[in-house]
Amino acid sequence: MATKSKIWLSSPHMSGKEQAFVKEAFDTNWVAPLGPNVDGFEKGLETYLGEGSHVAALSAGTAAIHLALVLLGVGRDDEVICQSKTFSASANPIVYLGAKPVFIDSERETWNMCPDTLEDAIKDRISKGKHPKAIIAVHLYGMPYKVDAIHDIASNYDIPVIEDSAESLGSRYKGRKCGTFGEIGILSFNGNKIITTSGGGALVSKSKAVKEKTVFLATQARDDSPAYLHSHIGYNYRMSNILAGIGRGQLEVLEDRVSKRRSIFQKYKQELESESIRFLEEEEGFYSNRWLSCILTESREMREGIRLLLESENIECRPLWKPMHQQPIFADAPRYINGVSDELFEKGLCLPSGSNLTDHDLDRVVKTLKSYFN
Ligand SMILES: *Cc1c(COP(=O)(O)O)cnc(C)c1O
Repeated sequence: MATKSKIWLSSPHMSGKEQAFVKEAFDTNWVAPLGPNVDGFEKGLETYLGEGSHVAALSAGTAAIHLALVLLGVGRDDEVICQSKTFSASANPIVYLGAKPVFIDSERETWNMCPDTLEDAIKDRISKGKHPKAIIAVHLYGMPYKVDAIHDIASNYDIPVIEDSAESLGSRYKGRKCGTFGEIGILSFNGNKIITTSGGGALVSKSKAVKEKTVFLATQARDDSPAYLHSHIGYNYRMSNILAGIGRGQLEVLEDRVSKRRSIFQKYKQELESESIRFLEEEEGFYSNRWLSCILTESREMREGIRLLLESENIECRPLWKPMHQQPIFADAPRYINGVSDELFEKGLCLPSGSNLTDHDLDRVVKTLKSYFN
């Protein structure tokens, strides 16, 4: 029998509008990490996010987190609090700066940073003589974290929040767009995200001055002087005008992409929800872009059974993020653990969720998954 066609977890989904912007960049020879598409993409994101946001387009979400930490003055031996259940890119930039990550476990309602554990950790770090310099909180799989609770604690202890919104463009908390809550927000346009520039990211801030400082740092920190004068260490992190053209085309269909991903989640839930398969609900005030649809099974054994079955049918899926406190690279990092993220990792699985999934493919995933229980 011929191999069944591959169903991807989350693959790029072009609208057809991208190439006109890219062509214009070629036609006008704006083939550089600046130009009208970069400006246009930033304006588009600022309008979309609202709240007086100022956006700097960068080469990656990881670069945005790195610069966010630089902007907040994080340096050698500083401690930075980070959600443990996330992709490693949330935490790696802490190490780039010689600072130390401190990992915080999740709660069950959103799977994101647990406010109680966060507060215990802050008190404990302070009692050890270390006042955390920043908190990196993540809206995982598009589900907003408990914004009010996390930000109340952060402001009580006067610690700025970096809002890792890489997976949650299009999500909302109490009606307000994710990416606009933190002292600094970050976005990703990597190939698997809800919209993509093939690779890219952005830093969202509340002031023009922070945006200008970001662009300055991202373009080698050249002082305003005819000579190449440098009084800061710089980075080469600006987004290309070609890629920003892709972004402009993608931004036009962002809301469609969100609706499609949400309908995929609904379909899975309708077809598969049972005693054995559970889904993460939206609490009052939470609106997820459902970047990835995730299921929670009863056990690691069941999760593995389903994962291997899907793989054998050429359907891509993957366990929920392995918590950072379980990663060899962070073996020495302090951690405040309540068991939730470990359990989610054991039992959870991400299903194909791309907005270009056909009904036929979706049915194939559902049928395969149901066959596990027969
Ligand atoms: C994708 C992702 C990033 C990194 O973004 P890149 O654009 O790939 O560098 C950071 N944090 C989270 C939670 C992500 O999913």
